[in-house]
Order: sequence, then structure tokens, then C-alpha cells
Amino acid sequence: MSGPLRQQSVTVLGATGSIGTSTLDVIARHPERYRVHALTAHRSREALLAQCRQHHPAVAVLGDERDAVWLREQLSQAGLVTEVRAGEEALIEVASDTEVDVVMAAIVGAAGLLPTLAAVRAGKRVLLANKEALVMSGALFMDAVVRHGATLLPIDSEHNAIYQCLPPEHRGGLSRHGVTQLLLTASGGPFRGWPRERLATVTPAQACAHPNWSMGRKISVDSATLMNKGLELIEACWLFDARPEQVQVVVHPQSVIHSMAAYSDGSVLAQLGNPDMRTPIAYGLAWPERIEAGVEALDLFQIARLDFEAPDEAAFPCLRLAREAMQAGGTAPAILNGANEVAVDAFLNGRMGFTGIGELVGEILEALPVEAGDDLEAILGADARSRQVARERLEKR
Ligand code: NAD
Ligand code: MG
Repeated sequence: MSGPLRQQSVTVLGATGSIGTSTLDVIARHPERYRVHALTAHRSREALLAQCRQHHPAVAVLGDERDAVWLREQLSQAGLVTEVRAGEEALIEVASDTEVDVVMAAIVGAAGLLPTLAAVRAGKRVLLANKEALVMSGALFMDAVVRHGATLLPIDSEHNAIYQCLPPEHRGGLSRHGVTQLLLTASGGPFRGWPRERLATVTPAQACAHPNWSMGRKISVDSATLMNKGLELIEACWLFDARPEQVQVVVHPQSVIHSMAAYSDGSVLAQLGNPDMRTPIAYGLAWPERIEAGVEALDLFQIARLDFEAPDEAAFPCLRLAREAMQAGGTAPAILNGANEVAVDAFLNGRMGFTGIGELVGEILEALPVEAGDDLEAILGADARSRQVARERLEKR
């Protein structure tokens, strides 16, 4: 590229998390390209303070006003001019501010929906890690991307891989571009190969010890139940205009192939790399260019072999539940997601066993009626009802 680069202004929603931290690591490698406009966190005020010291954002946002008072005090003692705000309104504002070019959506769970949607509606370049937002509101979300001219780049490693394997303009149905199937790879999580009986006794610590990736606790549990792959199946359908039957889940324990696209002429294109989220993050930040991400080069001799197997949907029912929710359409994915967030939280807090997660989500999907999911009220209503009924059932368990 000729001429000086225009520096891009970036908001990182969920800056203190696993994806947020990796994003700041990539940004710090390219100070000539990126500057930080805003950093947000929910409760991790100490971590946010350290990030403000390093990245000097114009704005920092915390969940609660009391934490904001504390951070303001600390920053002023350090002689920093970062403005500190609290609450959801502030998240929406830093996601849509005219000052901002790029928004990394890395809040975990449904809490990320409104700020992420605000970034889309403001026509930003949106780097989507927060898969729950898209799962809940798929039709509405993708419609808003087109309507407001946002640039949506998937950060989830599988979807980022597929994005790289598809033609640049791939909307309008896969078959139009000669794509017959998307092959979504899954590590299988820490309990791959375990029979259902043995899963009943696993602890949160075991579930959060992922063999290949280091991630936040919620997505780690989702990876262990395979709900993560279920959410990703739904995510792939929305991002790439695919039907659920066009997405095949392939267990690939080495996590080196991040996903693939199969074409009608028999070609299968794959994206490979070490399991390090800085690769898809750097891709999203620099697209259509490529930048250095701090990721070690792939050593195929050291990896030596790549294995593949079918997922065990009898031991891990969450994958099937997610596929069924996508097939049902409307508010079903929002119901699935809400119940799953309640169930994962209960498991992490020792209030329910591991296999209870899939059982509870299945129960809630059976219990609640599915409605049309094309307006935000319907989606937020389905999410709230799903959580409420899931909590009631938990009490009775
Ligand atoms: P994490 O738990 O490590 O971090 C979550 C971030 O969101 C933190 O900054 C936290 O302060 C903030 N947050 C939490 N609850 C909030 C709330 N109610 N309101 C506002 N902010 C809140 O999570 P993570 O592993 O970084 O994952 C973030 C998102 O990215 C998830 O949706 C996850 O599915 C997705 N993702 C993560 C990875 C990964 O490797 N970690 C890979 C693919 C996709
Ligand atoms: Mg993923």
C-alpha cells in the first residue's frame, strides 16, 4: 500500500477477557496502525486499570458505578486523562461513537448483544467474537449488517477459517458459489471419548482445562459439553447463508485445521495454524491486508499427524439441541442460549452436575413456545423467559 496509513481507532468490548487481552497484544505490535478509543470490562477493575496505564484509551467502561469511582480515582492519581463511565448505555456509546472505526465484540454471552448491535447499526468494522449475540438475533443482526453497511469479520477461529476459504463475496447462498458443505472442526474438548456415565462426575476445574485453547470459563464449559460447537453451527448458518444440513461437524483433536469449505468440483479448502486466537484477531484487524500477530509458525513435522472422527452426539447432546434450535428457527436459538447460560453458571457454581447442562437446556427448549425472531423485543423476551424458567427448574432439581 502506498502513502501513510491512517491510524484506526478501536473499541475493545470485553477488554480484560481472553479475547480482549489477545486483541490488545496484537494492537500493541502495530502502534502506527491502531490506537485504542475505549476499553470495557464488567467487574475486573484492577485489570482494566493496568490496561488503561498501557494503552491510554480515551474512555474506560465498567459495569458498576462504584467500581467506576474507584478507577477514576486511581487514574487521576496516575495522571491519566481517561474518562471513566459505567453501565450498558456507556457500552453502547463507545461501540457506536463516530470517533471509532473498529469494534472488537468480545463480551461473553447475551450481555454483548446490545453493544454489538449498536456497533453494527453504526456501520463499524465489527470483529465478532461474541457468538452468543449472533446466535440470539441472527436474522435481525445480519439484516442490520447489510442495512447499515457494517463490515462483519468473524473472529471465532472456525468461522474465520471458513471466511478465508470462501470467495470474497459469498452472500446469497453457498451453492451459488459452488460450495457444497462447510466442515466445522471441533477439538472434542477435554472429555472427548468419555462415555456419558463418566461425565456425570466431572468438576468445573476439569471442564475448564481445555487441551488446546486457553479461554474464558463460560466458553471452556461450552467446549466441554460441545454446546460451543452447537452455537458455532448456528453462527455459521447466519454468517455464511448455510442451512444446518450444510454444516458438518468434524472432530479433529489437534486443532490445527481450523475449518474447511468443500466445493462441487471436489476441492476442499482448509485454513491451518497454531491454535492461537491472535491469528483470527490480526486477520480481522488488518483485512484485507495481513499483519504480524506474534503467533509461532506452524511446524508440520512437529505435529506429524492430523486425526478426524465423528462427534458423539449421544454423550454430548448439546450439539443436537443446537442444530434442532436452528432448524426450529425464530426465537429457538435465543431460548437455547439463555438456558445454556443459566445452566453453565449453575455448573460453575457447583449447583448442578455437568450432564445436567444438556438436560436442562433440552427441558427448556421443550417447555417454551417458539415465536418469530425478527424483532429485538421478541428476542430479549425469549431470552428473559428462558432464563427465568431455567432458574425455576434449577430450584426444583
Ligand atoms: P472472558 O470471560 O475471558 O472475558 C469476557 C469479557 O467480557 C471480560 O472483559 C468481562 O469483563 C466482560 N464481561 C463479562 N460479563 C459482562 C457483562 N455482563 N457486561 C459487560 N461485560 C462483561 O471470555 P472470552 O473467552 O474472552 O470470550 C469472549 C467471547 O468470545 C465469548 O462470546 C466467546 O464465546 C468468544 N470466543 C472466545 C474464544 C477464546 O479463545 N477465548 C474463541 C472464540 C470465541
Ligand atoms: Mg471457535
